[in-house]
Amino acid sequence: MIEMYGVTKIYPGGQVALKDISLKILKGEFVFIVGPSGAGKSTLIKLLFREELPTRGQIFFAGKNITRLRPKEIPYLRRRIGIVFQDFRLLPEKTVYENIAFAMEVVEAPGRDIRKRVPYVLERVGLAHKAKAKPSELSGGEQQRVALARALVNNPDVLVADEPTGNLDPDTSRDIMNLLDDINKRGTTLVVASHARELVDSMKKRVIQLEKGSLVRDEERGVYSNET
Ligand code: ADP
Ligand code: ADP
Repeated sequence: MIEMYGVTKIYPGGQVALKDISLKILKGEFVFIVGPSGAGKSTLIKLLFREELPTRGQIFFAGKNITRLRPKEIPYLRRRIGIVFQDFRLLPEKTVYENIAFAMEVVEAPGRDIRKRVPYVLERVGLAHKAKAKPSELSGGEQQRVALARALVNNPDVLVADEPTGNLDPDTSRDIMNLLDDINKRGTTLVVASHARELVDSMKKRVIQLEKGSLVRDEERGVYSNET
């Protein structure tokens, strides 16, 4: 599903964020990206949906080299990758329903499909009863569920999440992580950057560890850190 070969990212100004990263993520996998602040996790995620381009190296998504996409091919990539952030990034003036519908409107889905699909994804994240609420009326966990519904509404192949539980309390974080696991079990590939040591340890998923931009560990059923 995702392949990186010799990917290096140097930001303008000279900051080296990623050094010679090669990795493969197969369809249906659930992968955590861990490492201390500044290790390069967010940069890796930005490269996946082409918010940033690598300085060197190649990135393939579903067999297509996304470092060489033409501008008009980028919306196609973004439809196949759903994205969730730590700070939810919902539109504050729109209701829950409208926030999710908007993600389908921007890819010009027919109204008929939108009216069918939005209630379905709201149900899936357990928020059907909040369709008419505004984000400010929701708890943090509920806002992240809306963000997840929005990321899933166009039925992406991959869901990418950058610190999805970073703003949530431990119980709510666990709920969101269980929801991500459920989404993965229904077939979506998951790539999750996370600082949540205990959650990562309890999930027993593949763990890729970055340190100062280098890939230092890649383990099946791994833990947050092998250091004690
Ligand atoms: P993490 O997500 O693991 O905290 P980041 O990918 O955000 O790491 O950052 C990796 C390195 O790249 C850090 O040294 C950071 O300061 C730097 N960096 C991140 N974004 C930018 C940017 N837009 N411009 C310059 N340097 C950046
Ligand atoms: P949490 O403890 O997870 O932060 P909250 O106490 O913020 O949860 O919210 C508990 C419930 O009350 C949630 O269902 C949320 O949607 C609802 N709620 C919170 N704030 C408001 C508000 N300003 N208006 C309407 N409902 C609200």
